[in-house]
Amino acid sequence: MTIERTSVSTSTTPTPDIGTLPPLGEVPTRMHVQAVRPDRYGDPATAFQHELVDTPAIGPDEVLVAVMAAGINYNNVWAARGYPVDQVAVRNKRGEVEDFHVGGSDASGIVYAVGSAVTDWQVGDHVVVHPGVWDADDPWIARGRDQMIAPSAKIWGYDTNYGSFGQFARVQSHQLMPKAEQLSWAEAAAPTLVGTTAYRMLHGWAGNTVQEGDLVLVWGGSGGLGTQASQLVNAAGGRAIAVVSGDDRGEYAMKHGAIGYIDRRRFDHWGVPPLVDDKAGQKEWTAGARAFGKAVWELVGGREDPAIVFEHPGAATIPTSIFLCQPGGMVVICAGTTGFDAMVDLRYHWTRQKRFQGSHGTNDAQAYAYNDLVRAGKIDPCVGRVLSFDDIPRAHAEMGRGEEVFGNTVILVGADDPAAGRQ
Ligand code: NAP
Repeated sequence: MTIERTSVSTSTTPTPDIGTLPPLGEVPTRMHVQAVRPDRYGDPATAFQHELVDTPAIGPDEVLVAVMAAGINYNNVWAARGYPVDQVAVRNKRGEVEDFHVGGSDASGIVYAVGSAVTDWQVGDHVVVHPGVWDADDPWIARGRDQMIAPSAKIWGYDTNYGSFGQFARVQSHQLMPKAEQLSWAEAAAPTLVGTTAYRMLHGWAGNTVQEGDLVLVWGGSGGLGTQASQLVNAAGGRAIAVVSGDDRGEYAMKHGAIGYIDRRRFDHWGVPPLVDDKAGQKEWTAGARAFGKAVWELVGGREDPAIVFEHPGAATIPTSIFLCQPGGMVVICAGTTGFDAMVDLRYHWTRQKRFQGSHGTNDAQAYAYNDLVRAGKIDPCVGRVLSFDDIPRAHAEMGRGEEVFGNTVILVGADDPAAGRQ
């Protein structure tokens, strides 16, 4: 879909410094960003650079948001590497002219300009942004189907340009949600991408949605997704067990909804298991997976297997996740951080009638339901570190190395104080 966009900048408005804003509704022609360019793809520490670029124009259904704080997500580790997708090349193929990527899929901010067809948001509104974008005229969506499965569905600030790592972000109006009044700008920017993704994984797949009393195994229990997943399980009356590497991470997970944790470093059966004909190898692998399952039983005090396994490590853990999941249960996955080639032993998969479900992003209804829980104070945004604009490259490099995995890292953009923004 080609969008006719109009500039909303005024040449007399100077580019504000980071940590400041222009007068409400006044948009400068240039803005500070942390941009990735294809000739810098690789280590996020050097792929991102502080630059000045033109402030984006907006289309009739779009909104320009002055970003107060931005959340860091793993997707821009991938974008900075240019792997597995070269986002700039994909967009250039679609006809977009920019030769850079301004990512960032989480924002809190203030509406500075609205497109001509936007009726439900006004300049001055305090908002957060969910990451699901799609074409308004997508025939799949017109038929009333799930927006996030539509051929045009994308993740804002990863698949699209002008995310939250710039002073002004361009969003579709349906992505906007009211900011929780009790949260600072930094807190509000932290959880939406991981929280809405976790909400869809746990509530979006009819027949296997989380139910009162359900046991759910959550990989990466101290991380961005994991801390949101455990809280959502808790809110639904279920019990989350976190998998982590280290007691400090386990304790963090238990502060955020998990009833217990397993340190995965005690086990070594990870990755692709020996093939079916390798009887000795299979026996050894199964003993490892069973020992891990026993650790779950010890935590729950009985022989109970998880109704849902919340997956994102991928290749390293999928065989164990599917082995452990109870018959009729679901392994739901949204990433393959450790690798994309995972093995399923189909004998057990069909006879025990388990479900292996992919999940990606969020649709509007799921995002709004999640944001209602945040606004009601039922979900902690799990802010890990609050960093400055020029820490964006370092924060992604550390995330890519698996360091500092405690909740969600946040960057101050228009805000100059981590506590500012609470009402
Ligand atoms: P994060 O905060 O960095 O957490 C990643 C977690 O993975 C860590 O807590 C780590 O926990 C765990 N981990 C690392 N290596 C592991 C291994 N070999 N085995 C088991 N666990 C391992 O990242 P995140 O924000 O939760 O995101 C995780 C992944 O999901 C990323 O690839 C991201 O791109 C993806 N994602 C996808 C979507 C979507 O819509 N499709 C949305 C959000 C995120 P321990 O070391 O403590 O075990």
